[in-house]
Amino acid sequence: MLLDHLQNKLNAIAAQDQTRVLRVAETPTSPCQTVRGPNGVGLQRRMFCSNDYLGLAAHPRIAHALAEGAQIWAGGSGASHLISGHTLAHEHLDARLADWFAPHIPQARVLGFSTGYMANLAVTTTLGDAQAEFFSDELNHASLIDGMRMAKAPVQRFAHADMAALRALLVASTAKIKFIVSDTVFSMDGDLGPISELLRLAEEHDAWLILDDAHGFGVLGQFGRGALEHFGLSSERIILVGTLGKAAGLSGAFVAAHERVIQYLLQAARTYIFTTASLPSVSHALMTSLDLIENEEGQQRRAHLLTLQRQLRDGLSRILKDRAHLGWRLADSSTPIQPLVVGSNVVAMALAAKLEVAGFRVPGIRPPTVPVGQARLRITLCANHTTADVGALLQAIDKAAQHLEDQ
Ligand SMILES: *Cc1c(COP(=O)(O)O)cnc(C)c1O
Repeated sequence: MLLDHLQNKLNAIAAQDQTRVLRVAETPTSPCQTVRGPNGVGLQRRMFCSNDYLGLAAHPRIAHALAEGAQIWAGGSGASHLISGHTLAHEHLDARLADWFAPHIPQARVLGFSTGYMANLAVTTTLGDAQAEFFSDELNHASLIDGMRMAKAPVQRFAHADMAALRALLVASTAKIKFIVSDTVFSMDGDLGPISELLRLAEEHDAWLILDDAHGFGVLGQFGRGALEHFGLSSERIILVGTLGKAAGLSGAFVAAHERVIQYLLQAARTYIFTTASLPSVSHALMTSLDLIENEEGQQRRAHLLTLQRQLRDGLSRILKDRAHLGWRLADSSTPIQPLVVGSNVVAMALAAKLEVAGFRVPGIRPPTVPVGQARLRITLCANHTTADVGALLQAIDKAAQHLEDQ
């Protein structure tokens, strides 16, 4: 019965051409990876799809630090943080991140989580009690949406980055405690949220600001501290979630906030309390990752990313100008996420397939992940890409566009 039921659902997914498939990488994360092909043969692919923006995932110093961490700490933490799993490695990482955010969040304290998904569930479900109300950008990440659904507090959604709509909702609210919730960098468009305006509205309306900096941490700001550094913000009203599996090149996440907020999360956040603490070796290696993010090497990597972004945008603009009748557009992004919005699902998938044949892995993204009529190629850049890599991608996109035109 269950198996038949599931088969029907799987058939429905397949009928819409929406079946997701796992791809097996045979080599570490890098701009050039070997991916297992359909008949088990390894295929070389130029990858424009990872969130490893700074190229740290396969950095030799990270690999070394991870091995060193395993020498010191061996394997697992053995328990949840509050039982016996919280090691000096976790504690040092939390303290270092608290120092990083001290200029932006007065009395900052940091709590580490195993993943960003869990950190977002923690913040939303723990703080969003019956006295509270959420004000959420409609394009927020799935983990924030899921967390708000699980929370007791009602949720008011506002149109993406629409400050007038948000203001109206805040004015109308009678909730005792208000939380504005937003991604800093929106993952499907790469655009920056209006974070300074959000903070101003939070201050005007006695609200708190929950920010998900998954795609900003490591990438934005002179020292890579993310959106708060980039926008030069400081307020005790900011509750920042950062992830450590993207630009930081490892895995994990953290919440940085006023120490009382953190003290309460520690008492009540179920995704902190009822899960095994992450590997101490990962926390140990993350210290090296933070060094690499803030030092001169990190600064050079961010500068190189900007060069690549400019090259890609200039090249794509030229292609779009030459083929204006296709109706494609470049998303308004100033981050390493650079989507090419083509509109139709069929075209997005055809474009991705043509690039795959040409040796490039660039995912096509369709509704419901993005709004209907806004299917796209989601190109992400990595500091380990060369200008030659980006040049080759531009050529391949131009050629694929030509093919689609000729059809
Ligand atoms: C990836 C991501 C997360 C989840 O982080 P993980 O550490 O991968 O669980 C949360 N929010 C946003 C915006 C993300 O892009």
